[in-house]
Amino acid sequence: MSPPGSPSVLAEHPEYLSPEYTPEELPHRERDVENLSFYFENRLLRGVTPPHILITGPSGSGKTATVKHVLAKHRVPGFVAYTVATGSGVKVLRSCASEVGVRLPVRGLSLDEAWERFDSEVGGSLLVVVLDELDKMLAAEPEAPLLYFLTRRPKTWVIGLSNNYSALSLVKDERVLSSFNPWRMVFDPYTVDQVRDILQHRVILAGAQVKDEAVSMCAAVSVSTAGGDVRYALNLLSSAVQLAEKAGDHVVGERHVETAKEEVERGYILRSLTALQPPHKLLLLKGVYEQRISSPSQLYEYANTQARRLGLSVYTYKRLSEFLNNLHVEGWVKITRRGATGRRGVLWEVLPTEEDIDLVKATIDKLLTQL
Ligand code: ADP
Ligand code: MG
Repeated sequence: MSPPGSPSVLAEHPEYLSPEYTPEELPHRERDVENLSFYFENRLLRGVTPPHILITGPSGSGKTATVKHVLAKHRVPGFVAYTVATGSGVKVLRSCASEVGVRLPVRGLSLDEAWERFDSEVGGSLLVVVLDELDKMLAAEPEAPLLYFLTRRPKTWVIGLSNNYSALSLVKDERVLSSFNPWRMVFDPYTVDQVRDILQHRVILAGAQVKDEAVSMCAAVSVSTAGGDVRYALNLLSSAVQLAEKAGDHVVGERHVETAKEEVERGYILRSLTALQPPHKLLLLKGVYEQRISSPSQLYEYANTQARRLGLSVYTYKRLSEFLNNLHVEGWVKITRRGATGRRGVLWEVLPTEEDIDLVKATIDKLLTQL
């Protein structure tokens, strides 16, 4: 036992508490693992290409972990490319190419040229493409030309993943929507009990000295402030472990979690805001959080004025209203009907949802200066 005040070791394998680690077992995602495995075992292995799939669910609901788990478990009679689809089609295709060992010239290829090479190298083989965070690619390129090429190619199975339930509404090309008409799998947010089980499992793997009450508290906080995001819960737990170790305490308790909360909250807001694409979403949020603008049309006006000032493109109100709806779905704002119906139709009111308004404002400003 270490003397009071000197650091202690409270987790034999702290790496198992990291959100980067994907455990062998995924408690509470067994059914989703089974559903996906079905396509591998009863379709791919029989030479049948399954229908495209779009998995949506909130951040930290285990989408990436589940798909990676299933990919690792099955032998695929063809090429498999897992990629985080941020950016343009060419960029994403390059990443797919390097995943399957196809060499493309470093520069100077248009998407059409890159696709032609890629397709001819892959030949007639089966191709499984996982496009993680698909909404990012769609936001960057609403015509989604890569998705068009992929879904037109025979023997190609596309699995898209997104935090955004309405990711497909970002697609602005009818041809893409008619060839990419995926089966939907929706991952519900984890409940407090489910997050607690997942954490408990990790605590055992890590050989960590954590009180049950502290685990429960991490689970409760992750559900109330981050919609059951396991990444958040694990970060909170890891930070609490480190705080307790630094203090030389012998077990992680609720007060360590309490202290860790603030630090983790900052990191979480920063990460989630950084992930918002395009930057116009930040401008809309700035309008809501800083200017306290609650009328949608005034918000669009504000966002476009700011966009012009920053040298960004200006969007139609229709497009901006989609962004605003996304922000509602993602939990950044709340859009409600305001009282009676006005002369020109329904009046909507937009309000902030994050409690720490100052933190959100400061983070948005910081991200906008980095554009
Ligand atoms: P998403 O892709 O939905 O945002 P992830 O799959 O990346 O979420 O999950 C974040 C992390 O949380 C994973 O790396 C994994 O460590 C952990 N995690 C999520 N779901 C589970 C689960 N059911 N069991 C164990 N760990 C999980
Ligand atoms: Mg993910």
